[in-house]
Parts: sequence; structure tokens; C-alpha cells
Amino acid sequence: MAMELTENALKVLEKRYFRKDENGVLIEDWDKMLTRVASNIASGDEEKTRRFYQLMDAGYFLPNSPTLMNAGGDLQQLSACFVLPIEDSMESIFETVKNAALIHKSGGGTGFSFSHLREANARVRSTNGVSSGPLSFLKVFNAATDAVKQGGTRRGANMAILNVDHPQILDFITCKENPAELTNFNISVGITEDFMQAVTNDDEYNLISPHTGAIYKKLKARDVFALIVKMAHKNGEPGIVFLDRLNNANPTPTLGKIESTNPCGEQPLLPYEACNLGSINLALLIKDGDVDWDKLKEVVRESIDFLDAVIDVSKFPLHQIETISQANRKIGLGVMGWADLLFQLKIPYASEEAVALAAKLMEFIDFYAKERSSELAQEKGAFPNFQESIYATGCLKREKINQPWDSLKEKIKKEGIRNATLTTIAPTGTISMIADTSSGIEPQFSLAYVKNVMDGEKLIYVNKYLQKALEEKGIYNNKLLDEILTRGSLAGIEGIPDDLKKVFQTAHDISPEWHIRMQAAFQKYTDNAVSKTINFPNSATVEDIQSAYELAYHLGCKGVTVYRDGSRESQVLYLGTQT
Ligand code: UDP
Repeated sequence: MAMELTENALKVLEKRYFRKDENGVLIEDWDKMLTRVASNIASGDEEKTRRFYQLMDAGYFLPNSPTLMNAGGDLQQLSACFVLPIEDSMESIFETVKNAALIHKSGGGTGFSFSHLREANARVRSTNGVSSGPLSFLKVFNAATDAVKQGGTRRGANMAILNVDHPQILDFITCKENPAELTNFNISVGITEDFMQAVTNDDEYNLISPHTGAIYKKLKARDVFALIVKMAHKNGEPGIVFLDRLNNANPTPTLGKIESTNPCGEQPLLPYEACNLGSINLALLIKDGDVDWDKLKEVVRESIDFLDAVIDVSKFPLHQIETISQANRKIGLGVMGWADLLFQLKIPYASEEAVALAAKLMEFIDFYAKERSSELAQEKGAFPNFQESIYATGCLKREKINQPWDSLKEKIKKEGIRNATLTTIAPTGTISMIADTSSGIEPQFSLAYVKNVMDGEKLIYVNKYLQKALEEKGIYNNKLLDEILTRGSLAGIEGIPDDLKKVFQTAHDISPEWHIRMQAAFQKYTDNAVSKTINFPNSATVEDIQSAYELAYHLGCKGVTVYRDGSRESQVLYLGTQT
């Protein structure tokens, strides 16, 4: 059965996804768009086209935006995530500025590590002058992104990472203190295990000059950590990313080190690697008061077939990207609608039950994704770098809760696997709007809101599962709706039964600890990383942020992004994409 498109979804689709002719007149609708995408990804195979069409049409799965926008078109650039290298030379820096511009033009986001660039005022031999340092080049990248603006698709998003031992780390940590600066970048400090150890022991650690390898200076780890926390408290940046953890999970360690992620942090990649993502809408996968496990398994398998096929029909923007992306065949299957699923199952987001279900669900998805990828390897061959990967060496780490991992690991070792990574939890900023569900694994931000439409008309949106629950109790009326609209949440509203208040929590009703525990539960069974914002009330202290960072570290998260209510006017990434 086809899913119903909301007015909001249609508006987004018409504005940026459906094809238009040269006069700007729409020549596509939902059916035509899905037909274009499905037949392109299926390389014209009729049976596969039908399957992929149905998967998307039912709303069970949507690929990331570039696939929906570009499949079957001239660009044929289908991936959302890229990482590009920046070496310590003018050639490399400006080559990467150019390459990033090409990627942005096609709707992809780029991440970079600036850690190889020598610090400001270091000697430049060829000119006998001094270098201007990573921060001045960061501004060049930012300006280039502004200039490209991605004609009609979406605006370029970037991630900049600087390792905590870079001589200019203090300048980097404060570089977005003014929110008008570097608006096309999210920034994260690359944290090492050694650094965290030094924080614990209250030791000093070394800053190392990338150019000479010499010790540049010593700093107290706790002072640096405190500055990161202070800035994050102020306006949410920088985030942190645990570099050693990214590399511990690197499926192909012999190919090099992972130094950066894509813009929202969910996809660590090797230099020049690209990855295409897709997400399952969990809100639709419920049966008899439980997850519809049989259907979910079927959807996982179909989604893996889809994402794997995307690689075969992708046109990559650069030869280097094509080579490594085809050799590793990374894909990232994730979820959206997690909060809406919990609403329907009447499980509070901030509960042991929800965290346990998160781990069980993600273990299930990850397991069947890998099983399917292994079957595809038998049919079509393993990813070309398989022999050098953790799958061949038996180093895939998976703790068993419910699934028979040992036998799957053996099967993969013997028979191969088609994709170096299978799972990623994306933000799903736009595709969740199309699917009319909560984004990624985030709680709902608000249970009801008013949207101004043309001619001063106002449209009221109420979470459909809340509305149903209130109607079932016979207490849904306009007065109550007004109150929910004013508050955005049920907290403090009289006349709503406690059981509903417990279940229908919003991001603000949920404490940072539960946000982090949820992120950690999903991370446990996700190859790549998890996009998640840890929300804090405006009144949160610097110490609260610090404890959250420490908890995320202890629970095995790969990175942390925090946001204190009201501390920034709008989030970087979606500035250009709001309709
Ligand atoms: N992205 C981007 N520009 C945007 C939004 C997203 O480059 O305006 C990239 C970025 O790498 C991000 C990834 O797409 O991490 C996935 O974002 P999301 O899941 O929100 O994308 P959707 O497929 O929902 O549009």
C-alpha cells in the first residue's frame, strides 16, 4: 500500500526532488520520481524495479536525498557523504577546495581533517615566508562553499576536524565562538585515548608540529577539555569525535587511517571515500503491540539490495573516489521514526525498556544486513578489499544479545561480504519529513506546532500518535490542543493521564543522560556512527555538559554533539534547506 504524503512532504518534494522542465514546470510526481529512481537503481531489471518501487512507495525505506534527486539524471551522483584529504601543501589544499566544490554541486556533504596542515607562523621553505595555518584555510573552504550554493538542490555542508594535539588546537576550539563565522562548517575536536587518559590523570600532554614532528608545547589536558566544554556550552560547538574508536572499527585498517567523518558525524570514512545512506521507517513496522520483526527482516534485506545496487550505478565525482568507493562498497543503512515507534508501543524514550529495545532492534538490523550482504557476496563477489578486512581476519566485534553472531562471522569469513560497512544512523533531516515521521533516533522536538501557510492561513500539526492516544481516552479537544500548542509538550498540562505524559516525551522532557544512553545503545550495533544531538535545557551548567561528554565516552559513543536550548539561533546544516 502506498504511503500517504502530507502537504508538507509534497511541498518539499515539489521544491527540490521532483523534476522540472526548462521553464520550471513540474514534470514529475511521487510515482514518476519513484519509477525513475527504482528503475535506475535496478539497472532496468523489471522485477527489481518493482521491488525497489514498492519498498519506497510503502514508505518502509528511503535512500538519502542525493539518490532521490540524482538517480536517472545527468549527475547520477547518489551519495550524501564524502571525506577528502588535505595534505600540507598548497597544491593539496586548493585541489581539495575544488573537489569539495564539485561534490557540493551534486548534493553531497564533505568532511576534512585539517590536522596535517602546519601551524600558523611555521616556516614555508619555498617562499622563505611563514604559513598561515589551518584556520585561515578553513575560511577559504567556507567561502568556497558559500560561492557554490548548490544550484537548486542543497547547500554544501562540511565537517572540519582538528586533532587535539595540533599546535593550534586552542584557536580551533574557539573558532566558532562568533556564530556568524564558518557557517558552512560543523567543527569537531579529534580526541585520542591518550588525551582522555591525560584528562583522567590530570596530566599534561604534547602538542606536536605536523610539519616537523617535534613537540611544539605542553598543555594540561584538563584545561583543553574544559575549554571545549565551555565553548560547547556556549553555542554547541565544537563537538568531539573519538578518533581511536573510529579506527578500532575501521573495517580496512591496512588501507590507512580514518581521520574524519562526513558533516553530521555519522559516517567516518577514509580519505576519498564516499558512502550512500538509506533509512528504514520504524514507525510503520509495528504489529500486535510489538515490532513487526518478520516484516522488518524483509525490509532490511530489500534495503541492503537497494543500497548495494546504488554503488553499481553511481557516477563518482572524482577518479580517486570511484576507485576506493568501489573497492570498499560501504553503505549505511539506518532508521528513522524511532520516537514514533516508541509512542505507538507506549514505551517512554527515557526508560530502560526503550534502551534495551534499541539495542535489540539495531542488533537485528545489523545482523540481517550483514547476512544479506554475505549472500550478495556469494552471488556477485565480496568487496574487492575483503581479504584485507576485519571480516577476513575474524576481527569483527559483535556482542551477542539475541542473534547467532558466531556462525554469521564464520560464514562471512568463509564466503565473504559485499560491503565493508552496512549500518549508519543518519540524521534523516529531509527524508523523515517526506516520510512524515520523527528523524533518525531523535525524540520528537514538539508534539504540536502551527505552520504559517499562504494568505495568512495557519495549519496545525499534531503528532498523529498523540492525537490517536488522546482520542482513545476521549480527551482530545480544542482547548487541550491549544495548551499543547503553547507548550509543545505535555509536561505540566492538567487532565492528561500520567501514563500518556510518560510516553509522549519530547527532546526537552528527556534528560541528557537518556539521550546519551540511547545513542550508545544504537552505536553498539552500528558499523559507522550515530547522528544524535544531546539536548540540554537553557539552564544547564558547564559541568552538566562535561558530565555528558564523559558519560558518552564511557558508554562507547564515537562522538558527541550537544545543544543547549536557546544557545544558537539556528542549526548550521539546515539553514539553507528549510522550506
Ligand atoms: N547533507 C548535506 N547537506 C544538507 C543535508 C545533508 O551535505 O543540507 C549530507 C551530510 O553529509 C549529512 C548527510 O547528508 O550528514 C545525511 O543527512 P540527512 O540524513 O539529514 O539527509 P537526507 O537524506 O534526509 O536529506
